[in-house]
Amino acid sequence: MIKFLDLYNINQQHKLKLTEAFERVLNSGWYIMGNELKQFEIEFANYVGVKYAIGVANGLDALILIIRAYKELGLFKDGDEILVPSNTYIASILAISANNLIPVLVEPDLGTFNIDPTLLEANITSKTVAILPVHLYGQLCDMKMINEIAKKHNLKVIEDCAQSHGALGDDSRMAGNLGDAAGFSFYPGKNLGALGDAGAITTNDTELATTIKALLNYGSHVKYQNKYKGINSRLDELQAALLNVKLGTLEEETSRRKEVANKYIKGINNTEIMLPQVKHQEAHVWHVFVIRCSDRDKLQKYLLDHQVQTVIHYPIPPHKQEAYKEWNNLSYPISEKIHREVISLPISQVMTDEDVQYVVDIINNYKG
Ligand SMILES: *Cc1c(COP(=O)(O)O)cnc(C)c1O
Repeated sequence: MIKFLDLYNINQQHKLKLTEAFERVLNSGWYIMGNELKQFEIEFANYVGVKYAIGVANGLDALILIIRAYKELGLFKDGDEILVPSNTYIASILAISANNLIPVLVEPDLGTFNIDPTLLEANITSKTVAILPVHLYGQLCDMKMINEIAKKHNLKVIEDCAQSHGALGDDSRMAGNLGDAAGFSFYPGKNLGALGDAGAITTNDTELATTIKALLNYGSHVKYQNKYKGINSRLDELQAALLNVKLGTLEEETSRRKEVANKYIKGINNTEIMLPQVKHQEAHVWHVFVIRCSDRDKLQKYLLDHQVQTVIHYPIPPHKQEAYKEWNNLSYPISEKIHREVISLPISQVMTDEDVQYVVDIINNYKG
C-alpha cells in the first residue's frame, strides 16, 4: 500500500535528534515557557522573515487569538465581518465565529482553489474589517491584489498559513509575512509537523504581538496580574524542542515535495483528470496534491483497489455543515463543485521515485 502520508517514516528520519530533544526537555525540569519556546520563536521568526513569532497551542487558536487581539485593541467588534474563502478547511471560519464576528464566504477560483480576489470588493460592506486569505493546499493566494483591496478599504489581512509553510511570494517574502498577521498550524500532518498539537502566530506589529502574548497566557503580562479575560493556549517546551529539530530540514523536505508534485504534473496525462494550476513554482509548497475528477468516488475506489491511499480535502463544504445550519440553504456553486470533485494523491518528502511513478501509471490506466 502506498500510504497517503507515512507519518511514522517521516518522523523516523529525525529519530536521533527528536530523542535528544525529548531528553533535554525531560532533564531540564522546566516544561512551559522556557528556552525551547524562546529559541523556536526566534528561529521561526527568522525563517518567515518577520519581527515576531509567537508559539500557541494549535492553528485554530492562532487565528482565534489574532482576531481576539484586534478586538482588545479596539479595531474589531462583535458583528463585524471578515471575508474568508467558501472552500477552506472549517477552522478558518470557526476562528471568526468564535470571536462573535461574521464570516462572509467568498467563492474560490476553480483552477487554484484559492479565494477569487475579483469577488472581494462586491462582498465588502460598512461592517467589513478584514480579509482572511487561506493559502489552501500549500499555494499562495494572489496577495498583491488582496493587499491592494485591503489597503483601499482599510481592512486587516490575516493569513491562514496552516498549509503553506515556506511558500514564497513575488517579492520573495514568505507566507506569514504577506499580511498584517498570520496563523500557522504544526499539526502532525502539516508540512512542519509537531508530535502533537502546536501552532504559531507571525506578525511585524509590536502592539498586536504584545496583546497576543498576554491573551494566550490567561490575559496576563505579569504573573497574577490579569489585563484581559484570556485563555491558556501556550506552546509547551517539548513540542517547541521537537519543532526546533524539524524546522532545520523543512526547506530540504519542501524541495522534495516539489519534485514529487512536478513528477505528477509531468507524468499524469489521463484526460479524465484535472491537474492543479500552479501560478509560480516558489509559491506552492504542496501540502497536498489535489486533482479533480468528475467521478471522484469511483477514482478513489479504483486507486484503493490498486493499493494507493487517498484523502478528500474536503468532502463537505463549510456552508453545508450542521455547525452552520444558518447557511445550509445558501449556494456556493464553485465550492460545491470543488467539494464534489477533489481527491488528494499521496505526497510527502519520504515518497520514493518508484512510489510516485507507480501512482502516475495507475492513474494513467484509469478509465472513467
Ligand atoms: C490545519 C488547519 C487549521 C487548524 O490547525 P490546527 O492546528 O489543526 O488547529 C486551520 N486552517 C487550515 C487551512 C488548516 O489546514
